Amino acid sequence: MALTGLDIYKLLPKTNCKDCGFATCLAFAMALAQKKASLDKCPHVSAQAKEALESASQPPIKLVTIGSGENKLEMGNETVMYRHEQKFYHPAGIGILIDDTLTEAELADRVAKINALSFERVGQKIAPDLLCIRNSSHDKNQFSRVVRQVASSSQMNLALYSNDAAAITEAIKACTGRRPLIIGAEAGRLDAFVKLAKENNAPLAVSCANLEEAAQLTDRIKKSGVEEIVINLGREGLARHIQDFTFARRTALKKSFRPLGYPIMAFTGTDGADLELAEAITYVMKYTSLIMVKCVEKDFMLPLLVARQDIYADPQKPVQVEPKIYEVGKVTKDSPVAVTTNFSITYFTVAGEIEASKVPTYIVCCDSEGMSVLTAWAAEKFTAEKIADTLKKSGIETMVAHKRVIIPGYVSVLSGKLEEVSGWKVSVGPREASGIPVFLRNWK
Ligand code: SF4
Repeated sequence: MALTGLDIYKLLPKTNCKDCGFATCLAFAMALAQKKASLDKCPHVSAQAKEALESASQPPIKLVTIGSGENKLEMGNETVMYRHEQKFYHPAGIGILIDDTLTEAELADRVAKINALSFERVGQKIAPDLLCIRNSSHDKNQFSRVVRQVASSSQMNLALYSNDAAAITEAIKACTGRRPLIIGAEAGRLDAFVKLAKENNAPLAVSCANLEEAAQLTDRIKKSGVEEIVINLGREGLARHIQDFTFARRTALKKSFRPLGYPIMAFTGTDGADLELAEAITYVMKYTSLIMVKCVEKDFMLPLLVARQDIYADPQKPVQVEPKIYEVGKVTKDSPVAVTTNFSITYFTVAGEIEASKVPTYIVCCDSEGMSVLTAWAAEKFTAEKIADTLKKSGIETMVAHKRVIIPGYVSVLSGKLEEVSGWKVSVGPREASGIPVFLRNWK
């Protein structure tokens, strides 16, 4: 948790000497808290206070990166318990488990299925992030073969999971430049895994029976020189996990307890796609930074990814599309013109229904600051004057040979005024997007 001005003030010399350029130590503390000054401006601050202040400025939950380049998965660095307080920064990673007991053909089939798990929703691509190869065969050579095959057939991030550090040492040679997560460290075999993580500059997941052990082991690992740690708590059931994950997040954020200030991962333990989905979504909601799942079916993955997308959307910033003219289908100068707001979900719902109608249509998106139709109307961001202005500035007048515009049914009240200020004839469309196909097919 960030220090307040008063917290910082307590650590300053309180002599009000003005050497920092501020009239008092308190004024300087307030400026520091607001990031408007830097600590080095005070030449009198003690080494002890300096260390405390610098350590307090570190993020309460360590940022851990798996992979590299565009596809890299970043976890942690969160600053709040609840998204409405600010927002969550790094969406929980979704990993898929692959056992190294699969045959070459089964493996190729599973990886191909996973590679196809990519969807588009409200203009954003959503897909799982990582493949976790587990050394269930306990055979070093088999593990290496499977890791090689997976690494060469998928660009996704990788996690190598084995109790045998020597097996990972061999397999990781097939992951050059991929920076995989190493899973398998635990109290009795920490040193070999720490060495492996250091040699490969890779993040390390440590398995712990409970939070007390997690705090001890992360501390040991950090002191051994590995900074990027992921906590993997033992399988004690969903309810216990949520309790522990919440406690860890709260302790890291509110008490600045560094040994628990690391991303937490979980493997789903339930069988059956429905139960596994419910478990995985619960982990997304409650502080898990990396969730390993087994199911690779589309009707499992899509709702999981949608839930993640929604939880990690910035609650203070609606998802928006660019306010401009969109063409749906092969439009001509006689195509209908519909206006709506630039709230992503509104736009994509309207565009989807227009596509389903098979009536090529122009959509003119007004800049409503990402608000939906009724909200924007109530906030005066979707008024007759704004729509008229958008119609004029968008250039739609030069693209069609008529001046007839369709407005959403919920703002039918705008029709008279809009005709007056725009010179366009207004048709009132349906209230619900589901009525668009019938409406457009009858539009003349
Ligand atoms: Fe206080 Fe340091 Fe500024 Fe002097 S230089 S007023 S001691 S904060």
